[in-house]
Amino acid sequence: MSEQTIALVTGANKGIGYEIAAGLGMTVGVGARDPRRGEEATAKLQAAGVDAFFVPLDVTDDESVVAAARLVEERFGRLDVLVNNAAIAGGWPDAPSTATPEGIRAVVETNVIGVVRVTNAMLPLLNRSPRPRIVNLSSHVASLTLQSTQDLGGVSGTYSPSKTFLNAITVQYAKELENIKVNGACPGYVATDLNGFQGRDTPAEGARIAIRLAKLPDDGPTGGLFDHAGPVPW
Ligand code: NAP
Repeated sequence: MSEQTIALVTGANKGIGYEIAAGLGMTVGVGARDPRRGEEATAKLQAAGVDAFFVPLDVTDDESVVAAARLVEERFGRLDVLVNNAAIAGGWPDAPSTATPEGIRAVVETNVIGVVRVTNAMLPLLNRSPRPRIVNLSSHVASLTLQSTQDLGGVSGTYSPSKTFLNAITVQYAKELENIKVNGACPGYVATDLNGFQGRDTPAEGARIAIRLAKLPDDGPTGGLFDHAGPVPW
């Protein structure tokens, strides 16, 4: 097996996902749903010296996800690191009393079902890796403990619960997949499109914890939620 470490980052054409791809130091698949945005980001990463390749990937689309797995399989035969980064906010603040079934469905389809769809499609490839790692981009606003004790910037009837749902799934994957380290990453409050660039930190700063979890040593944790300072309560 080659020494090369193969990663795939979903939603890597901008924001935190782009910086994760830039900072992993691996051969990295740049997952993006829009071909132009994906190709441009890949070219920019390559110009910066990253061994990047474009992977057309819409996490809400079965065929797209199957094709992405086929592309990685044909090129490398395996996957070492999967970073489930793609997500949508669906509006913020977003009172539960005015949340709509359509709005909730759209966010859950991307932020939760999208992660399951991509992960399950990539599992056969991850199972061929000597040190497989899965990182799911979560958020402090997903923490029921922090939501109950702190002001995290208003109410969120859709986005926060979608990430809480994702946390629950992260724990279950970690329990099932004993050969794979599966963890959640909280990037902090980062200035990206997701929040109208209101965040405090840069995307590169936000990317740090996901990069660290993607490179965990064999005695590292699994089934946890972390930010750059350490464990985050559920
Ligand atoms: P962003 O700049 O809006 O980037 C989101 C990425 O996801 C974009 O590349 C977007 O692609 C992609 N995406 C959305 N729907 C997709 C789909 N159906 N298929 C494939 N890709 C899709 O947001 P970000 O702030 O970097 O967020 C990255 C991750 O960090 C998310 O999981 C987010 O929830 C999490 N997070 C962010 C913050 C923060 O403060 N920013 C805080 C906590 C957690 P397009 O360009 O095509 O739309």
